[in-house]
Amino acid sequence: SKTTKTVKDYIRTIVDFPHEGIMFRDVTTLFADARGFRMAIDQLLHPYAGERFDKVVGLEARGFILGGAIAHQLSVGFVPVRKKGKLPGAVISEEYTLEYGEAIVEIHDDAIQPGEKILLVDDLLATGGTAEAGLKLIERLGGEVIGCAFIIDLPDLGGRKKLEAMGMDVHALCA
Ligand code: 5GP
Repeated sequence: SKTTKTVKDYIRTIVDFPHEGIMFRDVTTLFADARGFRMAIDQLLHPYAGERFDKVVGLEARGFILGGAIAHQLSVGFVPVRKKGKLPGAVISEEYTLEYGEAIVEIHDDAIQPGEKILLVDDLLATGGTAEAGLKLIERLGGEVIGCAFIIDLPDLGGRKKLEAMGMDVHALCA
């Protein structure tokens, strides 16, 4: 049909995953669709047209898929923020709280040089805990975060407010 789909139309919701009561936003259906994926990458980059970045940082794991495509589009390098114990070289770490318990994320300590302009990317912003930890890692290495881009923002969970309170510019494609 000629009906134009939006990015949101390609995302499905899986009920009770990974726990009962959770409505999981599944972006694999967006990534699997040629037009959906391209539209998402284009829209994630749209506010930054004319901006100069040095690196894209992606958060494990879906942030790697988006961040890789975005870094290629910008002709800049890609840096992963990973869960504890996955990166082989010397790292710095940040601990943050989850709904149940804590998590630790890491970045290679030589992955960003002071003053480099960074775009942070992930698929979904919920409480903002994951993105905040990633931002702290980037800032500890002296990176200057120009923007934080997400496919989905769940505003009721407070992530946007948390990141904006850190002085961040937050860009999301849908709620
Ligand atoms: P936050 O730290 O903001 O509470 O949670 C965001 C992180 O959890 C992101 O890395 C995101 O990938 C993941 N996440 C939480 N809920 C969902 C969801 O419903 N769908 C997807 N795709 N990721 C989620």
